[in-house]
Amino acid sequence: MGRRKLVVGNWKMNGLLAQLDDVEAIGSVAAAHPAVEVGLCLPATLIGAADARRGGAFIGAQDCHQNGNGAHTGCLSAAMLAQAGASWTIVGHSERRQDQAETDADVAAKALTAKAAGLNVILCVGESLDVRDAGDAEAVVSAQLLASLPQGAAADWLAIAYEPIWAIGTGRIPTMEAVATMHAALRAELVSRIGDEAQGMRILYGGSMNGDNAAELMAIADVDGGLVGGASLTAAKFAPVIAAAAAAVG
Ligand code: PEP
Repeated sequence: MGRRKLVVGNWKMNGLLAQLDDVEAIGSVAAAHPAVEVGLCLPATLIGAADARRGGAFIGAQDCHQNGNGAHTGCLSAAMLAQAGASWTIVGHSERRQDQAETDADVAAKALTAKAAGLNVILCVGESLDVRDAGDAEAVVSAQLLASLPQGAAADWLAIAYEPIWAIGTGRIPTMEAVATMHAALRAELVSRIGDEAQGMRILYGGSMNGDNAAELMAIADVDGGLVGGASLTAAKFAPVIAAAAAAVG
């Protein structure tokens, strides 16, 4: 299936103007690997300035409000983020599901609002360590995906990121077999909901992906790229991940 690899950095609450040099350097790496779609989901404060220096990378946001506008002090609408220069946004990251108590319904609503503002969307799902240890990971994450999936989900604006919560920022990752099993299960779940459209939808792996493990992860059949936190913060760390994705394309 001709799914273009998608590799996206999630800078979380990191990045001041000084880090724009890394944005520019990552943009140059992206331009050198056109077979891979590369992006950086940045703090909203950097989006405008980063857009001017993004090179071959797209700039994205890390969240948006589910409403189009209104009395939501401190929040940002999808239209604001798009106007600032974002072309994608993450929704449903586990840190927001935990810290801001976002529900599956919130996540689906955010995805729809983002699409209406012209943003592409990365929708995150993933299990806790307790769920993994209980042997319920595929069932729980599949259910979470179905409950978070917005109406009209389609491959030209939506990608899924499977991110085991216990692998985020810990240096631990599941076995390659476990990643393959999960991604195949999520593809099957998508097929059951949206039919053939699911064959074109990218399913990213996220959780301690780095230059040492990216090649092996990217080689898995249903792994269509990565959502990368810590290893995306500098061009030196992110470039090998992008190169691994390009190598997996062949
Ligand atoms: C993330 O938070 O999306 C993530 C994958 O982080 P890390 O790569 O640092 O585990």
